[in-house]
This record gives sequence, structure tokens and C-alpha cells, in this order.
Amino acid sequence: MRLLVLFLSLFSLSLAQPVVNIDSDKSAITDFELSYFIDDTDELKFEDVASMKFVQGKNRDSLGVKVKEAWIKIELFNATKEKQRLFLHQDVAYKYISLEYFETDSSNNLIKKELISPYSDKAHEQLSGADAIFEFTLDSHESKTIYVHQKTPAYHFYNFFIFSQKESTKYLIYEKVDSVLISGLLLALALYNFLIFISSRYKEYLYYSLYLLSTTLWIFYAYGSMAHYFQVYGDIPVKFNFGMMLSPIFLALFIQTIFKTKEQYINEHKLLNSIIFVSLANFIYGLIDFNSALEIMSSSLTYALIVFMWISIRICKKGDKLIKIFLIAHTLYLIFSVYALLYYLGIADANYISSHGTSIGLIIEAMLLSYLVSYKFIIMEQEKEEEKLKQIELKLLASTDSMTKLYNRRYFTEISAKVLHLSKREKNNLSILMIDIDRFKVVNDTYGHQFGDEVLIALSRLLVEHQRKSDIVCRYGGEEFVILLPNTSLKDATNIAQKIRILVESLTMEAPTNKEFKFTISIGVAQIDVEHEDDIKFALKRADDALYRAKNSGRNRVCAEEIK
Ligand code: GH3
Ligand code: MG
Ligand code: MG
Repeated sequence: MRLLVLFLSLFSLSLAQPVVNIDSDKSAITDFELSYFIDDTDELKFEDVASMKFVQGKNRDSLGVKVKEAWIKIELFNATKEKQRLFLHQDVAYKYISLEYFETDSSNNLIKKELISPYSDKAHEQLSGADAIFEFTLDSHESKTIYVHQKTPAYHFYNFFIFSQKESTKYLIYEKVDSVLISGLLLALALYNFLIFISSRYKEYLYYSLYLLSTTLWIFYAYGSMAHYFQVYGDIPVKFNFGMMLSPIFLALFIQTIFKTKEQYINEHKLLNSIIFVSLANFIYGLIDFNSALEIMSSSLTYALIVFMWISIRICKKGDKLIKIFLIAHTLYLIFSVYALLYYLGIADANYISSHGTSIGLIIEAMLLSYLVSYKFIIMEQEKEEEKLKQIELKLLASTDSMTKLYNRRYFTEISAKVLHLSKREKNNLSILMIDIDRFKVVNDTYGHQFGDEVLIALSRLLVEHQRKSDIVCRYGGEEFVILLPNTSLKDATNIAQKIRILVESLTMEAPTNKEFKFTISIGVAQIDVEHEDDIKFALKRADDALYRAKNSGRNRVCAEEIK
């Protein structure tokens, strides 16, 4: 008899409505069928609803953005021999305006009623983290129906699970781990980029970090972390939507900076400005009337998404390598968030990817943008390095003589002043040699100007090869050279000059006539009076005088200045 009743009740139930069968091996029922009824009038009471025609659906679904009130009907049957104590979980319940639970027996008599108001002061007592939990019992082979009357402010969705007590506790502990991981990852990335901004002062890092921060704020709210971990309910967490309103501004600024759109892509730059304008207007409107601003947020975000896409394609066509990475990143973000949008609108099925679409898209985008940002960093550092090298090259070019590669007169004037200053401070000796090739005109006349140049180069090489580290060798004029000798007395300088003179004397070159060629130099030596002289030109004059005397007394000799 009992079996017959069971069979009949099962049969009749299976014909009419979906029934959740509680089997002994199931302590967590995460996929089941239910039915729902959309109340367009927003006025129906529990007594009216029982007779309404419910539509079959799944335990998790979105009914779109237009539905504000709906009734969910979950029919249950305990197929086990034991009495079952069960917990109906409603995920992200903190987003609802109100949730009413009605428990009825198989004859539709009301057994228990419960009202949960997530926006009220009692939210802390009524909700468990982000979830609403309705507890009920089922005797062996008993049937019951639970009706849920739910009101939402924005889009309408639901997400039900049925757990044993043990599974219910477990779910409460682990359910938000993924959202914490996602927000943690994005926050770490935001911090990392902010620190790079602090040290490098590249603005793109600041904008990128603010972009990540603003989207993370939104994820923190949207995935219930605020409710779950901090029991923050009502209007405050909803304000996290400001993050989503602001995010396109930072993304636009980021693109403007990283791709230098102002200089390179002026039309795209203006379009990006329009995103900033629209999002900023949305944000300011939100400060005045938050709920209305929230309603137009999806439009302003859609505008931003499309424009970002359009701009990436345009710049991509103009051949910027980096923008290709951005385009891929943004396309993937777009695909995932459109999938999520279709779920919110009640078009796409509910699953992990559709209900987490936006954050999955954001994570992928963040990864690719991080790559883009570090790639750009390398490029910028390279550019900086190249610029530095160019500067050094230019400086070198301006300070050296191209033929002999020695310092030129201009550089000598500059550096000698500094050396003099240093010698004055340290009270060190400072001497100077003035070198002139003997009868150089004859060399030019006999062997040609080109060979004359070779002689100049050979002499320069010799001077550099035998210079001390601190000496400064310079081509002062056509075939005149000056060597500045820090830390050197007149006597030592004269000795050095002699050494150089002898070295040159013994240098043998090959003339164009294939004959051996030799030449000599004359050197004038002078010491700078570091205590009394403020300009090296006086010493230069004395060295020149000494050189003149060397020439007059037969050439190939060293003359030091006469100490008076
Ligand atoms: P002295 O022994 O008196 O110095 O006789 P000198 O012939 O060397 O006379 P002076 O120093 O006045 O001559 C300088 C000559 O050096 C004149 C010029 O033709 C030559 N000269 C100057 N610069 C260059 C150069 O860059 N290349 C070559 N080949 N010759 C140069
Ligand atoms: Mg000369
Ligand atoms: Mg000469």
C-alpha cells in the first residue's frame, strides 16, 4: 500500500512539475530543476501565486534586467528512509531587496514563512555571509514545496543549492575563495604597477594600476566578498559600482599615454577623450542620483567597450605592434563580458564562465596588459639608453677632433679650467707642454697633404700611447698639440717632454716614395702658478714663448719657460 502511494505520488509529481529527489547518497544538490513565475504586476501575494502557471527552469538562471519580482517554486521529495535536515542556499542574496520563503506540505498548507531583508539593519542576523539560508526538514518519503518570493533592484537572477548541514558549512567556508583569489591577484598587480610608477614616474603605470584597482573594487562587490568576509550589506557595497564607472577613464588615459595618441593618433585621442567624458558624466551623475546612474552605467560601459575596440583596430591598422597585444586583450575581455552580459539578460545559460564572465575577462586582459606594460617598459628603457648614448656621442663629437681623435681646442679650454680649479684647491702642481712639428710645411710640400695627415695621426697615436692616465692630450691647432699634466712640476714636465721628443725622433714612417721617413718636434714647457693664476692662457703664452725659443735654437729640442 505504502509503495503504491509512493509510486502514485511520484508519478503524479513527475507529470506536473520537476521534483528534487533527496537520495541517500546526495548531501549536496547543485543541479536540479525548479519552476518560476514572473510577477509583472509586482503585487501578487503567496495565496494568489499557488494557482499560477509556473515555467520550468534550472536552479541557477538569470531572468534578465526587466524583471523585478519573481516567484520560485522548488518541489522536494525525500526518497530515503531517514528524516532529512536540509539547507536551501541562495547565493549572492545580499543583492536582493527582499527574499520571502514559504514552506508548504503536500496539501499546500503553509508550514513556515521567513522574510529576509538584505538592505535592512537585520541583514547581519538574516544572512550568512553573502548567502541566504532556509532550513527545512523532510520526513522519510515526505513531499514539500518551497516558494521563494524575490525582489531585485537591477537584473534578476537566482542561484540555489540544497545542502546537508555539513555541506552547508563547507560551502560557506569555500564559496568565495575564487573571488578572493581573483581580487587578490588583481590587487597585487595594481600595487606592483603602482610601485613601478613610483620608481619610474611613467604615468601609464599609474593609470593601469588605477584601472586594475577600480575594476577590483567592483569585483569585490559583485562576487560577494564584501558581504561574505566583512558582512557589509545594503547601500554601501553597491557604491563599489563607482569603480566600474571610473574604470574606462583610467583605461582611456592608459591608452593615451602608452600609445602617445595625442602626438600619433589625434582622432583616436579625441575618441578616447569622449570615453573619459561619458564615464566621468556617469560618475558625477552617480554622486547626485546613484541608482539612476547605475541604470545607465551599462550603456556608458558598452559605449566605452565599443570605442576601445574601434580604436584598437584603427591603430592596429597603422601598424603599432603593441596595440596588437592590447587588441587581443580587449577582444578576449569583450568576448567574456558579452557572454556574461547575455547571462545577465537571461539569454545565455548559467554556468561558471557566464556568471563570472566579466572577471575572467578582466583577469585575461590584466595578464596581457601586464605583458604589454612590461614590454613597453623595456622599449622605453631602450629608448632612454639610446638617447643617453646619442648624447654622449654628440658630446664626444663636439669635444674631439675627427682626424686625430684627440680632444679639440674647445674641449681643452673647458677641461683645463676645471683641472686648474682642482689643482688650486688641492695645491697641486700643474704643467703644460706645447708641441709643434718641425718644418711641417716641407713635409706637406714634399709628400703631399695626405701624407702630412698621416704624420699628424701617427704623432697623435704616439702621444696618447705614452700619456699618463691623468694627462690630457689635445690637438690645439693644425700641427700644434698641447698636453696638460696635472700633478707635475716644471722639472718633471721637462723630462716628460724630452722623453716624447726622443720617442718622436726615433719613430720611423714610410713615405709615399717608399723611403724611410722621420720627423722631429719642438716642445715648449711651462708650469702654471696655481696659487696666483686664474687662467691657463698665461701659461699657454709662456709655453708658446718657450717653443719659439726651441725653434730658434735649432728645433728638435725642449725649452722650458724661464723662471724669473
Ligand atoms: P716650424 O718648424 O717653424 O714649425 O715650421 P713649419 O713648416 O712646421 O711651420 P708651421 O708650424 O708654421 O707650419 C704649419 C703648417 O702645418 C702649415 C700647414 O700647411 C700645415 N698644416 C696645418 N694643419 C694641417 C693638417 O691638418 N694637415 C696637414 N697635412 N697639414 C697641416
Ligand atoms: Mg705650427
Ligand atoms: Mg711647425
